Amino acid sequence: MASITVTGAAGRQIQVPTGLFIHNEFVPSTTSQTLTVENPSTGESLGTISAASPEDVNKAVESATIGFNVWKNTSGPARAKLLLKLADLIERDADDFASLEAVDAGVLYTDSKGMNIPQAVGNLRYYAGWADKIDGKTLAMEGGVAFTYREPLGVCGAIVPWNAPLMITIWKLAPALAAGNSLIIKPSELSPLYAQKLALLIQEAGFPAGVVNIISGDGASAGRALAEHMTVRKISFTGSSATGRQILKTAASTNLKRVNLELGGKGPSIVFDDCDLDNAVLWTRIGITANNGQICAAGSRIYVQKTIYEKFLEAYKKMAEGSPSVIGNPLDPATTKGPIVSAAQHNKILSYIEQGKQCGARLLFGGEKVGDKGYFVENTAFADVSENATIMKEEIFGPVASIAPFETEAEVIAKANDTLHGLSAAVFTNDISRAHRVTAALESGQVTVNAWAMLSPNAPFGGVKESGFGRDMGEEALEGWTSVKSVNWTLDFLG
Ligand code: NAD
Repeated sequence: MASITVTGAAGRQIQVPTGLFIHNEFVPSTTSQTLTVENPSTGESLGTISAASPEDVNKAVESATIGFNVWKNTSGPARAKLLLKLADLIERDADDFASLEAVDAGVLYTDSKGMNIPQAVGNLRYYAGWADKIDGKTLAMEGGVAFTYREPLGVCGAIVPWNAPLMITIWKLAPALAAGNSLIIKPSELSPLYAQKLALLIQEAGFPAGVVNIISGDGASAGRALAEHMTVRKISFTGSSATGRQILKTAASTNLKRVNLELGGKGPSIVFDDCDLDNAVLWTRIGITANNGQICAAGSRIYVQKTIYEKFLEAYKKMAEGSPSVIGNPLDPATTKGPIVSAAQHNKILSYIEQGKQCGARLLFGGEKVGDKGYFVENTAFADVSENATIMKEEIFGPVASIAPFETEAEVIAKANDTLHGLSAAVFTNDISRAHRVTAALESGQVTVNAWAMLSPNAPFGGVKESGFGRDMGEEALEGWTSVKSVNWTLDFLG
């Protein structure tokens, strides 16, 4: 089995297979296509892995069809057992996963180990709990009785991004498998190594062949072929709006497969003058600097009530200057700021920063790239940003905060909602009634009060408006991986 070895945290050597994972085996691409995996800290290549062609996608679908026929007839408790086994194996190999996310996605080792991996494990355990509880209803009906089954959809696809790759993959894998579907995973070409490792653990856990296939490859080739496939019943997608629209169009023009879209955001963080200021400063900072702002739920628009605006800015700047980032290798536990994922994303962020400098906003701190090796950029904050500025309107997907004052509750609700997006928002206030009013008025799939973007396996996550539709996590996600069959029994219709 061909493999590559990368050096992880504390010098550990991690070996992952390079092949596509089809029918529980690692195989080369039929066309011998490969992807080069890059380390964003250095810009250097870590090696190459196989890249799926449309022909390989067909093979994965054939395998997943076999896998589905086995898995849909596997009992709930037996499915739960394998999901729990996978959770244990991921937990056992957390150092490997955290290292792999650090070297090819630039995620901090400490963030991956402290948050992304526990979230992934938590989701597997949560949905394992559901696997034997996916029941229907009994319904009274005139002249008879009806009952419903919740059935799996069939062969499904998960197309995922690079920013928290294991966690987002598991958000889809855990409910899809708990419900009895088979799943083909298409990881991002920017961060495929975690998925090669995950495939090893799927094998080790003992899932029947075809229940999970993992095929790395380019979006325009492998991703597109999966989205177009006439046998695939659902695509659960997390990524950019442009790709999401493309997948929706593809579904419409092929077999009307079900589509779940988790797209971008431009999250408002609203700071009222009755809040705990230190807490608000801390969380609004975390909300735009965590993972270098490469988070769909990032709190990238910070609205602060005018009465405390200058005080907030002073404290916000002081916190940035008082605890400067330790910039460098994300594998090092001492590092608090790693690289941006790729040269393209780095350039995009720098160009938004340039626009911020040109648009008349006040540069509070940051604003420059860091070093000449790898893709590093300073945490950056602009104050007095106008509502029409591009940096207030568009998702930057980088550590760039746009801050502006507001006077009244009605005004800030209108500003917060004046966006095409609606994924995540944060409200800082100690007034309980206000917290209720504002959370109700915000057009957002998620609102966090007095913190930022809290996640829990039982709490659904997803967007409204152009942030997409459908949900990951919670009971709602499970519903999205099943369809309902009504069985209507006529017992006494003619009297
Ligand atoms: P992207 O759309 O470029 O890529 C996402 C995935 O889609 C990758 O696996 C890619 O290979 C695949 N893809 C690309 N073109 C395709 C096509 N034509 N058909 C099928 N698949 C295709 O997004 P990205 O750059 O990886 O991620 C960044 C974006 O993701 C940001 O906009 C961010 O807001 C969003 N995001 C959203 C969430 C959420 O939960 N809502 C989470 C993370 C990221």
